[in-house]
Amino acid sequence: MIAEIITIGTEITTGSTLNTNAFFLSQKLFEIGAETYYQTTVDDDEKRLMDVINIALNRSDLIITTGGLGPTKDDMTKEVISKALGLELELDPVMEENIKNLFDRMGRCMSNNNVKQATKPKGSSFIENSIGTAPGIYINKDNKKLIMLPGPPREMKLMFNNHIKDLIHDDLFIVSKSVNTVGIGESSLESKLVELNLASVNTSIATFAKDGTVEIKIIGKGKDKEQIQLEINSIIKTIDEEFDKYIYGYDNVELEEIVVKKLINKGYKIGLCESCTGGLVSSLITKVPGASNVLERAIVSYSNSSKIEEVNVKSATLEKYGAVSEETAYEMAKGLMDKVNLDLVVSITGIAGPDGETEDKPIGLVYICIMTKENYKIIKSNFNGNRTLIQNRTAIKALDEIRKIL
Ligand code: AMP
Ligand code: MG
Repeated sequence: MIAEIITIGTEITTGSTLNTNAFFLSQKLFEIGAETYYQTTVDDDEKRLMDVINIALNRSDLIITTGGLGPTKDDMTKEVISKALGLELELDPVMEENIKNLFDRMGRCMSNNNVKQATKPKGSSFIENSIGTAPGIYINKDNKKLIMLPGPPREMKLMFNNHIKDLIHDDLFIVSKSVNTVGIGESSLESKLVELNLASVNTSIATFAKDGTVEIKIIGKGKDKEQIQLEINSIIKTIDEEFDKYIYGYDNVELEEIVVKKLINKGYKIGLCESCTGGLVSSLITKVPGASNVLERAIVSYSNSSKIEEVNVKSATLEKYGAVSEETAYEMAKGLMDKVNLDLVVSITGIAGPDGETEDKPIGLVYICIMTKENYKIIKSNFNGNRTLIQNRTAIKALDEIRKIL
């Protein structure tokens, strides 16, 4: 079943409203096995909406629209779709009464415009909207299913969850599984995956990069759910073997969750001393429930004086090597380790940009020191990107280094 989502509204095409309806609907359609090949957004213009509807009727089996079901003149979804399908609009007296009652309950007067909301294309049915005035509409004609939903996300979501699933269910299953990796770039990961030639009859594989992590997504589609699951499991087994050291988890698990879990398992107390990430690593760790068991101390040591006062970095070190240096990273970690009884300390110092670059220290240069009671390791990285990206990538790198040491 080829599905198409059409989101209607000038507020979306002009960028004043984020198109969360398309985001929600694509996820939901994916879950129930519909293949969304197209998403179209069009402004509140009769001619362009008509074009979009006609194109969709030509290429898709299931069309879901949102927006344009309200009472005002720029709400014309129902009118245009009826015209495209050659269906007359008829007034439904029961719905008219319903809307009237809804207005009474809200203590508002129903205007003539609202009567428009009680009309529907001949042969279609209403989809109940229990929290708004605009009902949805369902048309099943010539093997095409067409569903119109109102724009407000709260109403649209509730209606989808309560009424739509059963209307459009197909006998196709889609199963997806993600393998989450860190420490390997998307392009080298992808070329290795291509070499392995893993995809099978019912499956496809794609990679998605986000800051320092890459998700490998395996999607299986077919009528036999068990068969798809078997194929996916066999692909995952090979991926596990090939990329073992880069894999930190599966599906929706975050790197920081894995790190906190490992720290808890080891009974480790950790301390962080962050400069260029400004507490980002601490923030990620404290997002995870149970972080209080492992995070003993987190210091944002941004200025030189704070590095001297909080963690005993020597001023001579800062003068000679600079704040962004292997030596400073080491002393930040050592200072915290000496001050507090910890099992693991991580210090971070780097240049997030856009200023602060020197000839031998480019933007994106970062030193991370990981220190245990017995040992330490300093990792030098050169990250690309703007300030936020460099900070995010640094934080991910630090978490990955902690993961590896555990
Ligand atoms: P409408 O049903 O066209 O009158 O839309 C009513 C309101 O719903 C709009 O003013 C937006 O705030 C919201 N809305 C409409 N379409 C979307 C969409 N695709 N994503 C998120 N919000 C939307
Ligand atoms: Mg609108």
